[in-house]
Amino acid sequence: MAKKILTEYINVPGIETFDAYRKQGGYTAAEKALKTMTPDEVVEEAKKSGVRGRGGAGFPMGMKWGFLAKPEGVPRYLVCNADESEPGTFKDHYLMKSIPHLLIEGMIIGSYALGAKKSFIYVRGELMYVIHILEKAIAEATAQGFLGKNILGTGYDLELVVQPGGGAYICGEETALLESLEGKRGNPRNKPPFPAVKGLYQSPTVVNNVESIANMPWIINNGSDAYAAIGIGRSTGTKLISASGHIQKPGVYEIELGVSVEEFLNSDEYCGGVRKGHHLKALVAGGSSVPILPANLIMKTANGEDRLMSYESLSDGGFATGTMLGSGGFIVFDETACIVRNTWNFARFYHHESCGQCSPCREGTGWMEKVLHRIEHGHGSMHDVDLLVDISKKIEGNTICPLGDAAAWPVASAIRHFRDEFIWHITNPYEASQPGAVYQGEMA
Ligand code: NAD
Ligand code: SF4
Repeated sequence: MAKKILTEYINVPGIETFDAYRKQGGYTAAEKALKTMTPDEVVEEAKKSGVRGRGGAGFPMGMKWGFLAKPEGVPRYLVCNADESEPGTFKDHYLMKSIPHLLIEGMIIGSYALGAKKSFIYVRGELMYVIHILEKAIAEATAQGFLGKNILGTGYDLELVVQPGGGAYICGEETALLESLEGKRGNPRNKPPFPAVKGLYQSPTVVNNVESIANMPWIINNGSDAYAAIGIGRSTGTKLISASGHIQKPGVYEIELGVSVEEFLNSDEYCGGVRKGHHLKALVAGGSSVPILPANLIMKTANGEDRLMSYESLSDGGFATGTMLGSGGFIVFDETACIVRNTWNFARFYHHESCGQCSPCREGTGWMEKVLHRIEHGHGSMHDVDLLVDISKKIEGNTICPLGDAAAWPVASAIRHFRDEFIWHITNPYEASQPGAVYQGEMA
């Protein structure tokens, strides 16, 4: 059985309550940090653990904490990004609804480390029932002296606020989230300055994903060396993977980073293989924002080694032969999936969610959607395939926030690996536009 850091107690009956969580050793890490460690020592533990941001970017969390500016007399904030909206990603939702005190304990430890006296959990607005679960858990923790004034008699005060999200995918982008938290429209800001310097109300702010913060209790209890010993290379620790699509056992799995893609996909401990009677066609490993991979590139890296579930191995060879771990949204497609239709679907999503601030994203996402719609519906021309590549190149790297890249990469990679399928749609418009029609030619 793989090591469990986040989900070890997730199935204990009543674990969403303070008492059950406490019985399993909950809040001992918060006690240890506040009573026996300095804030800098906690930051050092985060750094040494090597834990990386689990929202998608994989930026080292301790390093981010170390970047926090500390001007005299200016408040600092820790904001938990719980606005999980990446298509194919549902692991933070699972963690928060099942074991809310784990996140709260992580927030106490993180806020103490950063010197924050008021911290926020910004939760995807559609998850109102999760917001109620968190609020109840916060009330319990406050009643037990783990939040509020003079926590555990240490003199440290912390108010933890749950904020319902604005109901838009873009509010999960950290600077849009901060705008939304300030009561404004969720438009991303230009970076730099990074939130660590100018964040919420222009004060130094760290924005961390739910899963990243939830690792802290284990790291404090067991030590950064023990955490760093799990995983592989610079991909330390475990990772929650949201597995969906054409597999036998969709769900959320905690893996030790470094397990092979083959094992994750085919073993009974995880996905249980592609659904019976079908075979693997393609995979998106890290949510809809990352490049898609065809079956022949999924199990092995560019140099023929086993491809592993790690930040490095999944992206091995760059975008020509790799994908990304991203948010851990593992979406599997069998031969019944139409890549053109799927690409159009993703493009439609990004066009709908673009905030419209910058022209390459605002115009480019709409243009890509239109072109993909006409190819899928039997009105495409041969010129359209290269046009899509051209538009995606003009978006990539030319926008304020990563939504532009997220819209461009799936389109560019789908054409790179499945060009024949796009051409089949164009040259067989009647057949390809029939409901359920899928290209059955040779795959890339
Ligand atoms: P990023 O690489 O720009 O930044 C990563 C983090 O490091 C940010 O918090 C940033 O402020 C910080 N940082 C980077 N350089 C810094 C510096 N020099 N000084 C201080 N801080 C610095 O990426 P991002 O915008 O945070 O995230 C993009 C990712 O989000 C995408 O890869 C995508 O996979 C993911 N995503 C996830 C979801 C979801 O629902 N989980 C939704 C959309 C996108
Ligand atoms: Fe808005 Fe798109 Fe520009 Fe991001 S890239 S700021 S979503 S228009």
